[in-house]
Amino acid sequence: MRRSVGLLGMKRIGLIGGISWESTSSYYTLLNTMTAKQFGAWKQPALLIDSLDFSEIVAYQQKGDWTTLGEILADAARRLESGGATVLAIGANTMHKNFDDVAKAVSIPVVDIRDALAREVKALGASSMALLGTKYVMETDFFSSHLERAGVKVVKPVAGQIDILQSIIFDELTQGIVSDASRRAFLEIADDCRTRGGDVVGLCCTEFGLLINEGNAPWPFVDSTVAHVKALLDH
Ligand code: GLU
Repeated sequence: MRRSVGLLGMKRIGLIGGISWESTSSYYTLLNTMTAKQFGAWKQPALLIDSLDFSEIVAYQQKGDWTTLGEILADAARRLESGGATVLAIGANTMHKNFDDVAKAVSIPVVDIRDALAREVKALGASSMALLGTKYVMETDFFSSHLERAGVKVVKPVAGQIDILQSIIFDELTQGIVSDASRRAFLEIADDCRTRGGDVVGLCCTEFGLLINEGNAPWPFVDSTVAHVKALLDH
């Protein structure tokens, strides 16, 4: 058998990506820039990306077929493990609905974005978070109950606001469209959640970093993509 050269003994991150490619592009940039910042120039993490066809994911999400989605993600996880990944990440908040399917499919650890978020909220000295993401993240409780168990109280947007966020994510951000009107709408929804008790704003969609960042956020926030990358690198 041919020996792999140079990377023997190293950890290798396996990322289930393409959910959407915009978000995977942010993961790739952050994984590399945060590694270089910590360890110096040219240091890059060993990394495999299994990039899915997002149109297929969206179609099954719309049908509510989370069983097939679990199978698609489990397949990707197995490909990454057999390719040499030593730790896995699902590169989206929504698809953590299938976290257990992925974890069961492989024997390597899977770093959970919800734990990463809880850790960052607490690091800010806060105990509650406004949960902003897709309707699947906000309307069901696989996300909020996990955070609550980790000691973070969750405040969710109300019905009309959920529709606005869903449209910003699917009609714009996952298609690479970033607009000022949507940024204003996002800020208003986040403000409202803060008046209802969310200390920190949770960007619980891995594309929200395209819209909100250190330069334009008027409140403390945690970006799920940044939190997830930090947790992966710590691992
Ligand atoms: N990347 C997104 C998330 O973090 C949304 C795309 C999806 O529905 O998977 O939830």
